[in-house]
Amino acid sequence: MSTIEIRKITKKFGEFVAVRDADLKVEAGEVVCLLGPSGCGKTTTLRMIAGLERATSGDVIIAGQRMNELAPDKRDIAMVFQFYALYPALTVGENIAMPLHYEGLSAAEQQARVKKVADILHLGDVLDRLPGRISEGEKQRVAVARAIVRDPNCFLFDEPLSRLDVELRHSMRGQIKGVLSNLSKATVIVTHDQLEALTMADRIAIMRDGLIEQVGSPHDVFAKPANLFVGSFIGTPQMNLISANFKSYNNGKAKVTFDKQDVDIGVNHAVAKLKPGQITVGIRPRAFSVVGKDTKDTIEAVSELIEPMGAETLIHARTKTGNDIRVVVPRDKRVKIGETLHLVPDPAQTHIFGEDGKAVRA
Ligand code: ATP
Repeated sequence: MSTIEIRKITKKFGEFVAVRDADLKVEAGEVVCLLGPSGCGKTTTLRMIAGLERATSGDVIIAGQRMNELAPDKRDIAMVFQFYALYPALTVGENIAMPLHYEGLSAAEQQARVKKVADILHLGDVLDRLPGRISEGEKQRVAVARAIVRDPNCFLFDEPLSRLDVELRHSMRGQIKGVLSNLSKATVIVTHDQLEALTMADRIAIMRDGLIEQVGSPHDVFAKPANLFVGSFIGTPQMNLISANFKSYNNGKAKVTFDKQDVDIGVNHAVAKLKPGQITVGIRPRAFSVVGKDTKDTIEAVSELIEPMGAETLIHARTKTGNDIRVVVPRDKRVKIGETLHLVPDPAQTHIFGEDGKAVRA
């Protein structure tokens, strides 16, 4: 079975710990994205799986076999790098066929394999051209074709789309996802682009400072962030994180002091187990309803900046004590600068993070 597993892998560069105790299992046919800010250890993790970097401790297991001591070329993996280099003097077809030279296949078999992947990646018409005479998107697809032509155990991609312009990235995300979902291989993709991860991954592993903070489906990491970091990292515009004092829980509502006023906000019932103290309330900008001024238990904020975003409008508003609140409303909702907004958060989308930064959940 084509699976990738890392068990408690750690990588130290001298005293510096780049990756700490990372655990992850990628099943056959599954695409997992390693996502996180620059320097969080994504590439180092990928390089340890590939064998380009030796783990300081822990195990790398590919297709059920421990690979720690094996050289990259003995791991039967295919990698696509950010800076994929195509041989400029070879045609597209010859570039794709390159990895097959070491497989001892006949010329006819090689041709058949090249044709098959060229068809999958819509490169059939450019097989005889040199790389200098094809588009960036086609070059990217040649790099992918070269990786999948060999039927390896698994695929590793390092920022595969970062060289492409926005429009091409958008279409390539879908195309690569489509190709990978038909191959039954374990795939790990490194990216710092959350949209890329949300659209391409079956699961996302979110990293920070060498640690995997959460692994979950795109829906789960968005709707059920495990902690403050994941909540603030996933989703645009960014989740509002409001410091508040939690007093008590009663019947689906938490009594909190926020902005020097007591407010009852709808929350999940797990909050019942929380002790009184400092909390952070996480509310996504799209999770507010703008209500009339006579409504009880609202968060009040004065709009300061209005950014049209096409079908929606992003409002930056400020509370009495200076908290910045981002609110997204439909385009037809008219809001003026200086207007006081009365906001009610949707309880199903209100996240409570305890003093330790962890989400309070049932
Ligand atoms: P980016 O998105 O910027 O590529 P990343 O999440 O892939 O970042 P890594 O390249 O894995 O991050 O690097 C993780 C940390 O390890 C960084 O602080 C980096 O400076 C450090 N690092 C990486 N390679 C080495 C090395 N060979 N020697 C020393 N430190 C290294």
